Amino acid sequence: MLRVAARLFGPGLPAAGKPASLVVDLGQLQVEDGQALPVRIPAGSAELRRVGFDQRGVELAWRDSEGAWAVHVLDAADARALLAALPQQLAAAVGAFESTLRRQQRWRRLGLAALILVLAVPVLLLALLASRADELAGLVSSKIPVAHERQLGEMAYEQMKPNLKPVNDARRSAVVVLGERLTSGSRYRYEFHVVEDAFVNAFALPGGIVVVHTGLLAATTRTEQLAGVLAHEVEHVEQRHGLEAIIKSLGLRAMWALATGDLGGTLAGEAGQQLLELSFSRDAEMQADQAGFDRLVSRGIDPSGMAEFFDKLAKSGGPTPPQLLSTHPESVERSEAMRARIASLGGRRFEPLAPLP
Ligand SMILES: [Zn+2]
Repeated sequence: MLRVAARLFGPGLPAAGKPASLVVDLGQLQVEDGQALPVRIPAGSAELRRVGFDQRGVELAWRDSEGAWAVHVLDAADARALLAALPQQLAAAVGAFESTLRRQQRWRRLGLAALILVLAVPVLLLALLASRADELAGLVSSKIPVAHERQLGEMAYEQMKPNLKPVNDARRSAVVVLGERLTSGSRYRYEFHVVEDAFVNAFALPGGIVVVHTGLLAATTRTEQLAGVLAHEVEHVEQRHGLEAIIKSLGLRAMWALATGDLGGTLAGEAGQQLLELSFSRDAEMQADQAGFDRLVSRGIDPSGMAEFFDKLAKSGGPTPPQLLSTHPESVERSEAMRARIASLGGRRFEPLAPLP
């Protein structure tokens, strides 16, 4: 015999039901409340349902001439014991009931897994972004088409233009000729601009827009020095340093926009602003130096001008530090590394470049 605590609902009883015991004995089911006569449950026509917290309770429902009755067993252990002890007539109902229950549990587990996934993916991405920002930015930037990169650079240049004073004289022609010699055969389509600005500076935008200040041209004493600066800037483009910096600072939104080519809206403005304030990592600078050096040598241009120019910048103290120095740090260390590379060329001779106008 099994006796478990239950609650009985039915005709003439309070809406919340009343406490009772459910008794299973010799194949008979009945509800006892200790006062009235026991209520017999017709096992052949009773229905089983899951009820209660987390659906772990059981309801037996049936009808008689008085109306609809139900008895709830909410304790999970009692409910399990009850299911095991139910008489033969209810066995088929129990089978169907249990398979429904298993289905429900499966769905609940699936739902939970989906929820965890939905919550965890952004968190994981953020964690990855935080810990692996450099690698991820590199990985993502390598997947971005050159055309999108170019679009980004052009947008940034458009944004800067109102504050730039372009120069279109013989100085620009000389820069273009030198720039083309350095970049022929590249997958990028380069544009070289000269702008009126006394700051000793040059910069490159993603996709191949290179801008040189007149102040930098005035500071060079040999065309090879300008070639060194241009080769360095060209390598920032070739190595996609600007693109990587943008991706790192704008994050997922930039990745999406660049991957889909949808560069409209606020992102464009933000990206432009980022490019204006861009500074590259020390590693990126070293890489641009090294690859720039190799580029000069491969185009038959004396790379010692590159070292000379960084030396010049390192030595020129003044009230206002040259822009190139502040955005291209560790000039002394870099020119030393370059001198070591020059020494490795073993006195190779290069044809001198024509002087700048
Ligand atoms: Zn640089």
